[in-house]
Amino acid sequence: MVDQTKAGIEGSGPLVNAPPAVSFTVDLEDHRQPGEEVDTRYPVLTKNILEVCAASGITGTFFVLGRLAEDEPGLIRDIAAQGHEVALHSWDHTPLPQTTPDAFRQDTLRGKKLLEDLTGTAVVGYRAPVFSLVAGTAWAPEILAELGFAYSSSVLPAWNPLFGWPEAPAGPFQWPSGLVELPCPVLGATIGGRSLALPFLGGVYTRVLPLAVTSRLLARRSRGADGGSAEALWMYVHPYDFDDDEPYWQVPDLGPVGSRLLWLNRSRMVHRITELVAPNPGDPLRLVAERIGAALAVFDPASTPTRSTTSPTPTTPPPSSSESPRQ
Ligand SMILES: [Zn+2]
Repeated sequence: MVDQTKAGIEGSGPLVNAPPAVSFTVDLEDHRQPGEEVDTRYPVLTKNILEVCAASGITGTFFVLGRLAEDEPGLIRDIAAQGHEVALHSWDHTPLPQTTPDAFRQDTLRGKKLLEDLTGTAVVGYRAPVFSLVAGTAWAPEILAELGFAYSSSVLPAWNPLFGWPEAPAGPFQWPSGLVELPCPVLGATIGGRSLALPFLGGVYTRVLPLAVTSRLLARRSRGADGGSAEALWMYVHPYDFDDDEPYWQVPDLGPVGSRLLWLNRSRMVHRITELVAPNPGDPLRLVAERIGAALAVFDPASTPTRSTTSPTPTTPPPSSSESPRQ
């Protein structure tokens, strides 16, 4: 990869012209539930993503559901064999507020061990389902550190109709346990007259927003706008974001609008990767956390006043939601 700093110092142009380094992350999950009468498409889609990565010189981080790894062990081995980081995205995508610390510890350990058995490599990264690490579930980072995780990328530091934590730092920080947090990159934008903090590098946003808008937001954020930093900029996608052949069906708990968004502009996704990530692929998040972790300030939720920020899984998520509860 081309390090952003090096590109500025050693490249032919000044730093301001260097494309921001963007790490590539995949939440390896399915928007179908076990037992639904639909075919399984994510294995083929994931192989296509691996081909896009290989062709673009991208080495990413794949946050994998333990349940999927159990179903497709060969796929997880392929991901690791191609040099990507394999990290955990929970066992079965249960949002943190819907579990208990004990159950979380048990399921997380089970997922970590399975991925380590499959890859032969320590699993040190964790991403909570639906960015559900919020003020009310701040017990999770302590348990993650106890289980041997080095970093998490589980916080959406903005208001969100599902899960968000506006009081959390916008840039990378350390939890009191020493666990590094790499929050979802967000940036303020006015869309349709409304002020929003957008996770603008997330799958649905990059599919829906024009490329020029996302590129402008990325350039602003890489200059440190809204309290963020140029460090730890990452994009997140899901296998279905690339699935432009999937026949449309209405996902039961998303409703018609949410389901349409789930399908919208999927044919754009590969181009978005080549335009936003491939010009300067960031490192897998494990390496980013290693590089910047020690110098990060500590954020202690116990000493930070919080407003009510959690909206526990509404039955009809508004269209601006970053992910559905099933994703
Ligand atoms: Zn997810």
